[in-house]
Amino acid sequence: MKIEHFPPEFETALPVLEKITAAGFEAYFVGGCVRDFLLHHLIHDVDIATNATPHEIAQLFPKYFDLGIEHGTIAVLERGETYEITTFRTEQGYEDFRRPSQVTFVRSLKEDLKRRDFTMNALAVDTNGNLIDLFDGLKDLEEKIIRAVGEPEERFSEDALRMMRGVRFAGQLGFSIEEKTFAAMKKRHDLLEKIAVERIRVEFEKLLLGDFATSGLQAFLDSELYRCTPHLLGEDKALKTLLHALQKQTLENPVLAWTLLYDFTSKKVGIETFLRAWKLSKNLMNDVKKLTAFLPVRKTRMLNTWEVYQLGNSLSQQLEMLMIYYQEEVDLAGVTEVFEQLPIKNKSELDLSGDDLLKNFQYPAGLWVGAALALAEKNVVIHRWPNEKNSLLEKMAEEFPWNKYLK
Ligand code: ATP
Ligand code: MG
Repeated sequence: MKIEHFPPEFETALPVLEKITAAGFEAYFVGGCVRDFLLHHLIHDVDIATNATPHEIAQLFPKYFDLGIEHGTIAVLERGETYEITTFRTEQGYEDFRRPSQVTFVRSLKEDLKRRDFTMNALAVDTNGNLIDLFDGLKDLEEKIIRAVGEPEERFSEDALRMMRGVRFAGQLGFSIEEKTFAAMKKRHDLLEKIAVERIRVEFEKLLLGDFATSGLQAFLDSELYRCTPHLLGEDKALKTLLHALQKQTLENPVLAWTLLYDFTSKKVGIETFLRAWKLSKNLMNDVKKLTAFLPVRKTRMLNTWEVYQLGNSLSQQLEMLMIYYQEEVDLAGVTEVFEQLPIKNKSELDLSGDDLLKNFQYPAGLWVGAALALAEKNVVIHRWPNEKNSLLEKMAEEFPWNKYLK
């Protein structure tokens, strides 16, 4: 097959490949970008494979970054874009069922394509648009089949992450996993134990956010891979509930995904333990924890003014979006209205400071200052007190529990 018209992403990268071929080497578009192009999907990064060594590439491109030259990857900057260029390699010495301990640069494209995980990811395109398809990847793409390159069990034993990538692609593309490939996953699911949680999480998140998350989850369940992921052993019921829920609507972001997943589990461990085990980033963890705290309330009624204020606009909207999975009415406009009518949107807008309190009341600094500010904040937010300094000081004189703080 010949590709007559390159997509713009390939067109912009073409001079990079041509520079390599002009120097007497081979260069190809390879992997995910070729797959995504053939599927008419958005191409996120253009990966280039070559028989030139990283040092040979570095000589051709003065502006390069070392992304692991000893593993054969270098990035070059060309017309404001960066491209990852990977030297053809085979991988050896898969110790412990994960990443190879050693890579060997090879001069043949075939050897390089052979080490790739699935046939749909083992396609290459040369500068003239010729598709190099040594493992019938195009046919599998057309038939929507995820098939390991070579002997599946061997390939999953070399690198167990590939099994997670397999179910992830099922979740993103809605493809089915070829029988032998799937049987090998099921047989060797236990090897996933060897893989760093961070890498499993990346794949699992992509699965959950995929357009076909239900297919991905079904494969994640049926392959038993879930049993080797943090705190999901024994949670098959939760995963089935999630699968069922996602038939309604796909998930928009990781905050929603983790909140929903945790809520469906049996909660044998607390949210903190669960998220930590999955090694979520701090920010993501904080957001999920906040939504998790307010979810039980929202399941019974709309959030009130104070709750919307505490959660903030964005998270309040997200919490509302989750309601679709609980057969509740989703009222995003209602949340917007509550937020917009808040007298202050955050603490810094309060017309009262610690200094104001100290100056006005002349008591020594102490815990009472923070407590008084908190009282003012809450009463302003719930429209009980106007946000105006003098009137706040008056209200404080009347309503603050002074004797609790000043002995
Ligand atoms: P995405 O769209 O998520 O980027 P991708 O297939 O491009 O998917 P990458 O991690 O960017 O995934 O990897 C690029 C290519 O490298 C893949 O298409 C595949 O050919 C190869 N590859 C990546 N990870 C593995 C692996 N664990 N085993 C074998 N080949 C792999
Ligand atoms: Mg990619």
